[in-house]
Amino acid sequence: MILERHEFASDNVAPICPEAWAELQEANENYAPSYGEDNWTARVCGRVREIFETDCDVYFVFTGTAANALSLAQLCKSFQSVICHQHSHMQTDECGACEFFTGGSKLLLVGGADGKIDIGQVEALLARENEFHSHKTGAISIAQATEFGTVYRRDEIAAIANLARTHQLFLHVDGARFANAIASLDCPPKAITWEAGVDVLCFGGTKNGAAVGELLIFFDKKIAREFDYRAKQAGQRGSKMRFLAAPWLGLLTGDVWLRNAQHANRAARLLASRLQKEAAIESVFPVEANAVFVSMDERLASGLHERGWRFYNFIEPDVYRLMCSWSTTEEEISSFIADVLAIK
Ligand SMILES: *Cc1c(COP(=O)(O)O)cnc(C)c1O
Repeated sequence: MILERHEFASDNVAPICPEAWAELQEANENYAPSYGEDNWTARVCGRVREIFETDCDVYFVFTGTAANALSLAQLCKSFQSVICHQHSHMQTDECGACEFFTGGSKLLLVGGADGKIDIGQVEALLARENEFHSHKTGAISIAQATEFGTVYRRDEIAAIANLARTHQLFLHVDGARFANAIASLDCPPKAITWEAGVDVLCFGGTKNGAAVGELLIFFDKKIAREFDYRAKQAGQRGSKMRFLAAPWLGLLTGDVWLRNAQHANRAARLLASRLQKEAAIESVFPVEANAVFVSMDERLASGLHERGWRFYNFIEPDVYRLMCSWSTTEEEISSFIADVLAIK
């Protein structure tokens, strides 16, 4: 019988990190007020304001899909569209949640190298808008880090934000891997969010080391008006909210979130460089966060699958994604490399 090995399949196959687990356990010791009136929720919101150095509005939802869809519903009217990358998670992996929760918004897709939207294509798309005949663009959404494990630099975000401002569009960031982007850029979180012109950030906890739960951060409180109702209507207001908040407190205290992301990014760099040096397998995209995309021939990919390794095919028939997390170890990387070399 072969042992299934899920280590590199995604960053959501990882366990809950010890710090998040410890807070969860502590939150389980007694009774506490429901629907976010508890101490853990208040402390997480306070800590988020500290980390982002601004007085923002913070909400908890259960999934990244809910965070994206509900925040875009808050930003866009039903006749307004969202510009995003053709390979964005919203387009490829969210079952039309954005279109559903906005009640009619369209995703307007643009291309761009390395998973980042091409500004020229966004401008061309905006120029083609035909008054009330076409859908009216309401927001631009980018993923930071991107679906391809790359990271928008500060100046790239500023340029997109400028374009958004010029056209009176909101700028939304899908930060399912925001921590990995901060670890990669080594900058204060404000520098690539509100200071640069980002209106809303979905800050992912699940892939960083929590059990479940993403934060929705509105940098302009006016935008968040009545969001409580929208979240409740969508079934995204946890009654035992403290159990969403407690793991987050574990992540945000002592910057565990950043250390987890730094660890995952380091593991991805090590995996990529060992694949390149020892097996002459090059990365398809720059390894800037915790993902490594490689091209493998059919024989190698199926050989690895036969040895139990689980990982996914992406974009092209021969391109595969290997994902690292807070819990990836050097032994796991060595064991993967050994199997690659044994098959090659
Ligand atoms: C994982 C992920 C999400 C959230 O997915 P859920 O499964 O709904 O939690 C959103 N955006 C990106 C880029 C992701 O990788």
